[in-house]
Amino acid sequence: MVMQFKKITQLDLLNKVVFIRTDMNVPISNNKITDKTRILAGLKTIKYALAEGAKVIIATHLGRPTEGHCSAEDSVAIIAGKLSQLLGCEVPIVNDITEPLKWSGSSVVMLQNVRCNIGEKANALELGEKYAALCDIFIHDAFATAHRAEASTDAIGRYVPEVAAGMLMAAELESLERVMSNYKKPLLAIVGGSKVSTKLALLQNLAAKVDCLIIGGGILNTFLAAIGKNVAKSLYEPDLIPDAKKTMDIMRNRGASILLPDHVVVAKEFSATAIAVLKSIDDLEPDDMILDVSEEFAFQLAALINKSKTIIWNGPIGVFEFESFSRGTEIVARSIAASEAFSLAGGGDTIAAINKYNLADEISYISTAGGALLEFLEGKELPAISLLEHYASGTREYRSV
Ligand code: AMP
Repeated sequence: MVMQFKKITQLDLLNKVVFIRTDMNVPISNNKITDKTRILAGLKTIKYALAEGAKVIIATHLGRPTEGHCSAEDSVAIIAGKLSQLLGCEVPIVNDITEPLKWSGSSVVMLQNVRCNIGEKANALELGEKYAALCDIFIHDAFATAHRAEASTDAIGRYVPEVAAGMLMAAELESLERVMSNYKKPLLAIVGGSKVSTKLALLQNLAAKVDCLIIGGGILNTFLAAIGKNVAKSLYEPDLIPDAKKTMDIMRNRGASILLPDHVVVAKEFSATAIAVLKSIDDLEPDDMILDVSEEFAFQLAALINKSKTIIWNGPIGVFEFESFSRGTEIVARSIAASEAFSLAGGGDTIAAINKYNLADEISYISTAGGALLEFLEGKELPAISLLEHYASGTREYRSV
């Protein structure tokens, strides 16, 4: 189904007070922001609203403070400081949301860490109402929180007359739509990483949908065990063998393909200096650990990638952090980058692999949202999408909190 939601670019923002919920939950160490990607990503919507003549309230969570307290570490002051530099204006902090806003000559203010407010996590309606009282329009631009319903992402939306997606949220949703509902076939998914248990719902949802599924990492080992191979000391989850079998059955019954390697790269220990040995999957010794697929198999995967029109990638093919076991991931990553297909990649390790080979510009869309991305790909209904669709449909009915 095609998602229907309003975007900030469709609204009249002139002289309106716009509450923009961003995700500027950046890593901070020794009082310094160590990676400002999320601030830069959120800036586009803020700048757009200011340029359209709005007054902007920026809101974000930061870390996991205890509600009702806000220590110096919990404060968003350091983010407001960075935003002030980037926007070239003062960004005063609002500590008390029950007081009328003091703009102090600025068109932009920043709320103190929303997670310090009592009721934020529980999606308390009273807190949502307080946020809503500050503004005319709610812009949800925090896709990374789209799988959570909290007061500053959800309850607020019930009390504001106008709700729409920010530019980052809209870009994420449009990319997700291109891979999950409005995609060109053949659709290929690549799911790697360490454990089946963390990606079971994802594997099963994708198995019911994609034309081809490529499995890598420790997940692959469980699938190899499921077809009766001896995976020796490799990381795998015996308890999940029935689920791996079920996933393969779903694929087989649909006539879709799942390709498993006949050669793998093994080592006797899990370390960067371990000696890599290429072996047939039938020749593993009891102390062997599978840490990568063979180059030949990775090139077979590359050929499949090359034939696909839409690609979803989450999780490395092998232990790419160790040079000797990185070829599978590298070949797959480079093939995705070289392909003409629309490619969506996401997840921390996947992004690390993309950056390792400097391929970020060649992937169609890289989602920085871990949990929200996975839940969307698992086929779950995300609260942020429900809220945005609800407003776009113009109905006032809403699910209960
Ligand atoms: P995840 O967080 O589940 O996406 O898993 C990513 C991690 O899985 C990376 O750090 C990889 O090094 C690791 N990984 C990939 N392949 C294997 C493997 N064959 N055995 C053990 N770990 C692996």
